[in-house]
Amino acid sequence: MPKGELRFVNARLPLSGGGLYELASEGGRWTVVRPQEELLEVAGAIPIRDRRVVDVSAVAPAIDLEGRIALPGFADMHMHLDKALTLPEVGNESGTLLEAIANYGGKIAGFSKAHIRERIVRAALLGLSHGTLYMRSHLDIALQHGREVMMRTVEAALEAREELKGRVELQFFPMLAFDEHPAEAAKLSEELIGLGMDGLGGCPHLREDPVSDVKLLFRQAAKLGVPVDLHTDETDNPSMRTIEAICRAAIAEGYQGKVTAGHLCSLASMPKREAEPLMALMAEAGVGAVTLPAVNLYLQGRGDDGPFRRGVTRVKELLEAGVKVAAGSDNIQDPFHPFGRGDLLHIGSVAAYAAHMGAPADAGRIVRMITETPAALIGLAEYGVKAGGPANLVVTDAMSETELLLWESPSRWVMANGSWVSAQVRESWL
Ligand SMILES: [Zn+2]
Repeated sequence: MPKGELRFVNARLPLSGGGLYELASEGGRWTVVRPQEELLEVAGAIPIRDRRVVDVSAVAPAIDLEGRIALPGFADMHMHLDKALTLPEVGNESGTLLEAIANYGGKIAGFSKAHIRERIVRAALLGLSHGTLYMRSHLDIALQHGREVMMRTVEAALEAREELKGRVELQFFPMLAFDEHPAEAAKLSEELIGLGMDGLGGCPHLREDPVSDVKLLFRQAAKLGVPVDLHTDETDNPSMRTIEAICRAAIAEGYQGKVTAGHLCSLASMPKREAEPLMALMAEAGVGAVTLPAVNLYLQGRGDDGPFRRGVTRVKELLEAGVKVAAGSDNIQDPFHPFGRGDLLHIGSVAAYAAHMGAPADAGRIVRMITETPAALIGLAEYGVKAGGPANLVVTDAMSETELLLWESPSRWVMANGSWVSAQVRESWL
């Protein structure tokens, strides 16, 4: 079905300089992206808060955003959609990471493919309702329960991606281990990439031999030509530094710009003099970072007698070292993290608290951590409100980036490829 023409005026685009813009889309693509000198008054324009705007496929003469912030969609690049929303079935008495891993591992064989797919779709739609149009999910590869159980998750993920096509762009990274049985891991990774997985993931710091795990995984990723995204040093232990092996492997394989390290909790529990060279090495190796502030605040520091470490990595220092830093949701309502709603504005706000980033200039840095930085790290070729690009947009009720984090915009209007896919219109503070 051809998509009608939608026109917008008075859209404030912080990722395009922060000014006001006039926009038009047709056939799912932006046809007009034109800066405005000042707020425009267009006779007959419908204000965005008018419920009529999302019920029709074409609006003339225009939808008036009245100076509201609009973004080309949030990008949540570290999720676990296959585990999301399992909290009612998988508890966690102690609340620790280790009990979460054990309890989830004990239940996974009982989950049917349909059940996993249904949760992936539900969690992705939850994110979409908050404006997330791009997601990368790690996937559990529970080989200990046999191939059939493992393939349920893989197939459920691929089917969910098909079902969400045109609304959410999904990437999947299976979490693999290479150190114990390298030949089998290499074969399996090749098969999974062949089936449509997007890159290789893993948790090398939990392996018997992290350095060899990292080296073997990178060798295989280079052979297959796919990116790497690893859970990295998700521990309070200050001597855990697999990030060093990851950076060295990235350099050795010529993989600068294709590698992401998530969590990096130990960076925050080691002294600055030890963390600084590692952060400089990350910048040199072109390794991006993802902070998962909600989950790490919840999971880390549990073994401490006091003072309590809070687990969130050195966000400001990484940015200052020249490392690309994104912020993501990680787990949503599962044994690893009983909270979360797939709302990256909320994650941005938690990141701002946890990383001591409340200065006026920080709001813009936080907004980039949930938009253009993860978009670049996951390798999106067409991100941004640009003529010719996909007509993706999330409209908020905020007039500035500071307001965006302050109020987390209860209303969100979400457009994917020129069609409205979600609209939550709530009472405004404006
Ligand atoms: Zn994770």
